Amino acid sequence: MTPRPTATPGRDCPRCPRLVAFRESWRQREPKWFNAPVASFGPVNARLLIVGLAPGLRGANRTGRPFTGDYAGDLLYGTLREFGFSKGEYRAQPDDGLQLIDCRITNAVRCVPPENKPTPQEITTCRDFLVATITEMPKLVAVVALGRIAHETFVSAQDARRSQHPFGHGRSHEIGALRLFDSYHCSRYNTNTRVLTPAMFQAVFETVRKHLDARQTTDEQR
Ligand code: URA
Repeated sequence: MTPRPTATPGRDCPRCPRLVAFRESWRQREPKWFNAPVASFGPVNARLLIVGLAPGLRGANRTGRPFTGDYAGDLLYGTLREFGFSKGEYRAQPDDGLQLIDCRITNAVRCVPPENKPTPQEITTCRDFLVATITEMPKLVAVVALGRIAHETFVSAQDARRSQHPFGHGRSHEIGALRLFDSYHCSRYNTNTRVLTPAMFQAVFETVRKHLDARQTTDEQR
């Protein structure tokens, strides 16, 4: 029998040779950094899953928690707090005591890629972990994809057709029992170029919040 894939790769996951070599080089350079595949953060029984791209070199790859320690995290965690998806203070360190509420964060690719750019092969190889992450979340109803790669990886993870679900900031898609919400990635580059403004990002989470609140009311009436 083929073993069920786990939702979290081991510290020395060997699947992507280029990413293994990159990880090894950073283990030598910065032995105190996390330098390993980054696990999802947040409760497994959350209704919302946020899918990012991949750990940032000096963010999640250094600290070991998704979006923790880089610019993208400042905007993401600030927005989550605003819409009631977290409690506690985000201090850009994994021991800051921050808790996510009804929300979990993961990445399409779990290891830091050179130049922040995973190859198509690496994205496909790492998808098993996203599939397992989705499978282990019994109450999941909504997903936010941060950027096109996260969107396409999620669509493929659900065995849905990419051509039927094109990525678009602010769009949402019904895929099986789940609702997918698209946002441009909250990277420093996107915000500096104003491809994504904080208001645009907040608008996505406002929609998600309304969707979850409406679902709760309907579920309670059943
Ligand atoms: N940090 C992450 O963990 N993921 C991203 O996509 C960007 C920064």
